[in-house]
Amino acid sequence: MKKIGVLTSGGDAPGMNAAIRAVVKTAIANGIQPIGFIKGYNGILEKNYHVMDRESVSGIIHSGGTILKTARCMEFYEASYREKAFHNAKEIGLDGLVVIGGDGSYRGAGYLSELGLPCIGVPGTIDNDIASTEYTIGYDTAMNTVVECVDKLNDTCQSHERCSVVEVMGRHAGHIALNTGIATGAVQIITEEIPTPIDDVVENVKKIRESGKDHFIVIVSEGYGNPVEIATQIQEKTGIDSRATILGHVQRGGNPTLKDRVNATRMGYYAVKLLEEGKTNRVVALQQGNLVDYDIQEALKMKKPLDMDLYNMMMEISF
Ligand code: ATP
Repeated sequence: MKKIGVLTSGGDAPGMNAAIRAVVKTAIANGIQPIGFIKGYNGILEKNYHVMDRESVSGIIHSGGTILKTARCMEFYEASYREKAFHNAKEIGLDGLVVIGGDGSYRGAGYLSELGLPCIGVPGTIDNDIASTEYTIGYDTAMNTVVECVDKLNDTCQSHERCSVVEVMGRHAGHIALNTGIATGAVQIITEEIPTPIDDVVENVKKIRESGKDHFIVIVSEGYGNPVEIATQIQEKTGIDSRATILGHVQRGGNPTLKDRVNATRMGYYAVKLLEEGKTNRVVALQQGNLVDYDIQEALKMKKPLDMDLYNMMMEISF
């Protein structure tokens, strides 16, 4: 193995830089030339890449975002463009590719593997919505950002005896909502997996108020519904002054936490080792703290339900 590529694809996530650094350094340490493609699969299609060395990944382990930039690449949904990408990769002399991204990026990597370019996927998304792994790069940092913001909202909620309805990211998955709900002492989380009707939310808030609590945090996962509408309904039906806050893209930035840096480094390292062992069409995953790998198509069929034990615990002590 002489030359491998690395790219980041889909949405960005804090810790992607740590993963890129690990791929580049592991490659160099093993006598392999690393190439960094710019803006996801676009970089292969346009032959837009940097030859990477130690210097190109110096001083990036602590920074959010991705030095390789990331993007969606619509052409990749078409077989003819994927074939073009495969030919470009061969012309560049690639022996393998590490793709850091989500499930969609894995699909692209699966197709390239089928064409004959060994590919390994590394889970990079703040949403933790990749079923094959219990952890994705960026998830921990994003949740810590949410907690920091909600703590601030909680301060002002306490002072004014208000209810804050906070929309957090997670796409169709409620993992961020559930864990940050627990960590901030929320009275309710609402997600697509647990689509609590607004009247039940209102009843819960009323019941908790009767127990003496005078300020409330409700965490809503994006995709469930409009947080402004939920806040309006709570205010109208309980009389509690209620405000909606959409945290938005602030959750995708910031310096990665220790956990994200360490796991991103482990995963990047592991991905290069898989390529060195001649593996292809695999994704790296964390299961019970250990790194494992799965066939891409097998990984894409997996399901990761929301942890209902955690949810039930949260609701039992939410008063
Ligand atoms: P995130 O979780 O941040 O959204 P993702 O990797 O799931 O990350 P997508 O937008 O689904 O994000 O996919 C990223 C890119 O991967 C797409 O723009 C496209 O280039 C490629 N891709 C996604 N799905 C496919 C597919 N079915 N076939 C080929 N390529 C795909």
